[in-house]
Amino acid sequence: MRHRATAPNRRDALAALAGAVLLPWAGPAAAEVRHERHFLFGSPVDVMLRQAPQSPAEPALARVMRGLQHIHVQWNAWKPGELGRINQALREGRSVTASPALRAMIRSAAQLEQASAGFFNPAIGGAVQAWGFHDDVMRDGARPAAATLAAWRDAAPSLAQIEWRGDALASRNARLQLDFGAYAKGVAIDRALDEFAARGQGDALVNLGGNLGAMGAPGWQIGIRDPFGEGLVASLATQGREAVVTSGSYERFRVLDGERCTHILDPFRAAPAAGLVSVTVLHRSAALADAAATALLVAGPQRWRAVAQRLGATQVLAIGPDGRGVASAALMPRLQFAGRDWQRRITAV
Ligand code: ADP
Ligand code: MG
Repeated sequence: MRHRATAPNRRDALAALAGAVLLPWAGPAAAEVRHERHFLFGSPVDVMLRQAPQSPAEPALARVMRGLQHIHVQWNAWKPGELGRINQALREGRSVTASPALRAMIRSAAQLEQASAGFFNPAIGGAVQAWGFHDDVMRDGARPAAATLAAWRDAAPSLAQIEWRGDALASRNARLQLDFGAYAKGVAIDRALDEFAARGQGDALVNLGGNLGAMGAPGWQIGIRDPFGEGLVASLATQGREAVVTSGSYERFRVLDGERCTHILDPFRAAPAAGLVSVTVLHRSAALADAAATALLVAGPQRWRAVAQRLGATQVLAIGPDGRGVASAALMPRLQFAGRDWQRRITAV
């Protein structure tokens, strides 16, 4: 069997943080996997192409990686890029122009906020900052003052409060601060796959820190990580173009007043989401999957199914703090459980 020089081995793949991992490919050996890895969005980013050994893959890989780097800088609410500049203007009550790409992202996110019944809310930047999740380093400390959170809740920022005048946006709500931490990676995955497809590279995989988008036949083998440990819950093969996006309360958190607080916040309480440990969504659109995974994690065990239905997310795996989970009927038959334990703990709904 021919070996692929640059494909990740199993340990390498499992070393990636949250969400899903790419498993070694067990298909026919006629193709090679070309691979480029960088560190962006605080995690490893992989772009891969699977193709005949002699085909030139490097220009496409480099181009897609450059696109991801651009997004990483410009769409980070807490770095000095375009989004930072827009947030500054919103704080000061000024109108500000936005690039076509950012305008498109704000508009599509506003639709998803509405479809998610507000559980996905990218106007949440002020609350994210109050809880200290805008820092790269997660320090332990004290909870934010109750009055700060109450003021944010009363102002109830929403993307619906953005007013457009041509290419410029403004809002009367000075507490509205954009944060696409729950969405930009999904949009970036879609853009990367679009770019590959436009260059005739139809067999590709993009991994943004455990959020994967793939296309091509015979599919890519994906593992969904165990939220409690090192191993996997299950693996599956992607079908056609498909994204696998996970939101986990276990990956990024701070210990505040002795309590573990996740970086995913419930916009209605201005407080960390509770009730689910991890939600994985499979969808053709990585953007929708990203927004949905966040929304369902916030919605919690009682409400996630209703929110999933509103969003059109039919393939969902949701795991609770007791280590039990549910998979939607459309996803269940695709899951190959990593052990009998997980098979017992995940039930179909
Ligand atoms: P990940 O960090 O793994 O990508 P998410 O996609 O759920 O997980 O994104 C979480 C990030 O999104 C947070 O760090 C924060 O910046 C932002 N965020 C937190 N809560 C919400 C929410 N309810 N809606 C939209 N964005 C949120
Ligand atoms: Mg998300």
